[in-house]
Amino acid sequence: MAEAAPELPPLREVIRRHGLGALKSLGQNFLLDLNLTARIARAAGDLSACTVYEVGPGPGGLTRALLAAGARRVVAVERDRRCIAALAELAAAWPGRLEVIEGDALSIDEDAVLDPGPCRVVANLPYNVGTALLLKWLQRPKRFDGYTLMFQKEVALRLVAAPGSKEYGRLSVLVQWLCEARRLFDIPPRAFTPPPKVTSSLVALTPLPAPRHPAERARLEAVLAAAFGQRRKMLRAALRAYSPASEAALARAGIAPTARAEELGIDAFCRLARAFDEI
Ligand code: SAM
Repeated sequence: MAEAAPELPPLREVIRRHGLGALKSLGQNFLLDLNLTARIARAAGDLSACTVYEVGPGPGGLTRALLAAGARRVVAVERDRRCIAALAELAAAWPGRLEVIEGDALSIDEDAVLDPGPCRVVANLPYNVGTALLLKWLQRPKRFDGYTLMFQKEVALRLVAAPGSKEYGRLSVLVQWLCEARRLFDIPPRAFTPPPKVTSSLVALTPLPAPRHPAERARLEAVLAAAFGQRRKMLRAALRAYSPASEAALARAGIAPTARAEELGIDAFCRLARAFDEI
């Protein structure tokens, strides 16, 4: 149940008082529109029974929305030291509900800062490290119960892309092999301070109980790298450098050697990965 939100100063005042001018090097584009941050928090679903892990709270706009939406507890990791004092004020306004950690989300050990119970990631990610963070989390996709993440639209389109589209690639196959992926809504540049050059999209990822099709992960990733590394070539040629057995593996998987990577669904890639292990 959402609790009455405490009276808080406007975000613009927090930014001014703490000197939080946006730094491009840290991918800082802040969301100051409370309707929008509330919409993102709502899109994350019922947060009353879980911890929310937020990466990059910045001045705390989305953090406020998550707390007001009833998140049982928010653990927020922020790399920019300048934001920590501003976030401490927010933690004081919501006693016992917000923990702020100064650190780099790329290298932090999440198990050391989060309790082992249910946990969802909700974040307006810094664009320069968004994909790297997602790949880190996908090493153990079920560590979290779900992910509600803002990416550049171009990355979001890759995450949800279907075979045959120009956005379809390694990231699409890996993410959709492990998760149900949905693009929820777009957010225009003008919603951010300062406005980025590109449109953003909110994406929901829900880890599947098990990968969609059987395959050994390292093998699948290697096959994807080889196949999409030369995506315009026929698979026969694209996989040649990867393995001398590639034609035999394609045949065993029932895939035409003249097909191209972007035509293959997740199932076919998993068949191909298994075929390399079987021959
Ligand atoms: N959540 C805030 C909002 O919606 O207004 C800020 C979002 S801004 C796009 C990204 C935030 O991530 C910034 O506050 C930035 O300092 C922080 N950040 C950048 N790289 C980070 C990293 N490696 N680890 C943790 N935080 C990082």
